[in-house]
Amino acid sequence: MQRRRPAPACDANRMYNPSRMPTDFERMLRAYAELTVKVGLNLQPRQRLLIIGPVANGGCALEAAPLVRQITAAAYDAGARLVETMWGDEALLGARLQRAPRDSFDEFSAWMPRALVEHVEAGHAVLSIYANDPDQLKDYPPDLVAAVQQATARFVRPFREHISRNQTNWGVVAAAAETWAARVYPQLAPADQMTQLWSAIERLCRLDRPDPIAAWETHLAELAARTDHLNAKQYTALRYTGPGTRLTIGLPAGHCWVGGRSTSASGIRFAPNLPTEEVFTMPHKDRVDGTVRSTKPLSYGGTLIENFSLTFAEGRVVDAQAEKGADVLRRLVNMDAGAARLGELALVPHTSPVAQTGVLFYNTLFDENAASHVALGAAYKFTLRGGETMSDEAFELAGGNRSAAHVDFMIGSPELDVDGVLASGAVEPVMRRGDWV
Ligand code: ZN
Ligand code: ZN
Repeated sequence: MQRRRPAPACDANRMYNPSRMPTDFERMLRAYAELTVKVGLNLQPRQRLLIIGPVANGGCALEAAPLVRQITAAAYDAGARLVETMWGDEALLGARLQRAPRDSFDEFSAWMPRALVEHVEAGHAVLSIYANDPDQLKDYPPDLVAAVQQATARFVRPFREHISRNQTNWGVVAAAAETWAARVYPQLAPADQMTQLWSAIERLCRLDRPDPIAAWETHLAELAARTDHLNAKQYTALRYTGPGTRLTIGLPAGHCWVGGRSTSASGIRFAPNLPTEEVFTMPHKDRVDGTVRSTKPLSYGGTLIENFSLTFAEGRVVDAQAEKGADVLRRLVNMDAGAARLGELALVPHTSPVAQTGVLFYNTLFDENAASHVALGAAYKFTLRGGETMSDEAFELAGGNRSAAHVDFMIGSPELDVDGVLASGAVEPVMRRGDWV
């Protein structure tokens, strides 16, 4: 979209001069902030808001400051009592990885894990903003990077568990950053990379519509109608057919289709991901058979796995082929018993705005909305009726997959057909040529 050229983000830092007329870029940021606060978080009057970013970096990247300021303003306008931001910086983690004692990487912030949990337990909304280099850690020693990732996962696990149970209203949005933009648009000049990435975010978050909030209300209502329809069907299996793909995925009794909005423990309806285009549910971990071919490269652990196929028998991967990155793919599948089975299947129409860009963003928030996908590894308990209160054993018995991994890969294309198998055995079309029937 070249309807207009938003100023690059470096100019955004000069935009906070009240005597200046708002530019198109500033207007877009304001619309984005309002959408995030009103539709994404659905921030309630008197609620507090905590803004964070990638936890390993300590918080939200400084490059997101123009958006953070607009979100803070929008939150106070919505009645927030207090808005706080935890800032982080990739360069500081870089300094640590280069200079800190080699045996110190199991250390973690003394206060942050408790602070995060306290905010959630007090009912404050939490927003995570991504404005980072997807390859941030590629040049550091893999063992140190792994140690940092493990320590982070261990220390913030109580917080992440609260979030995955929707203990409070939370959200994830993105802001363009120079290193990220360079990765997505390597063919462009640096100034154009930022412009392009901001334009993409603007279009994918429907900020280019005359009334973005109304556009999201319509879109979220459509997703809700879709999940209602699929939940009423209770298909026993889906059959996928496309080039290189003939796959049957069994669905467990009581599977729940989820998409668009979630509900917090206190009853607040919020849309945790902006953008979001998918509806998803849980496969039966033992009832996946056939072969599926990927339709987009998978970026996993800093390696691109390209043009790959997986063959399943009774739920388990029995063969993995890839033109590039086959070793990494096989290592992923063998990571633990559950990594060789599916834990999620998501349907995304080929007409979705993210699919239409044809761009790989190296960020799940965008990429998982580009095409129908499945995930190797853990299933979400909320995609099974009553699953959230089940023991791990009961969840597995019901068909839920458990694993330390959860890796989405894309299988959708304009050539993919999906059929639903009803309890009666009758088969009906769900998607044709990549779009809803
Ligand atoms: Zn997904
Ligand atoms: Zn997923």
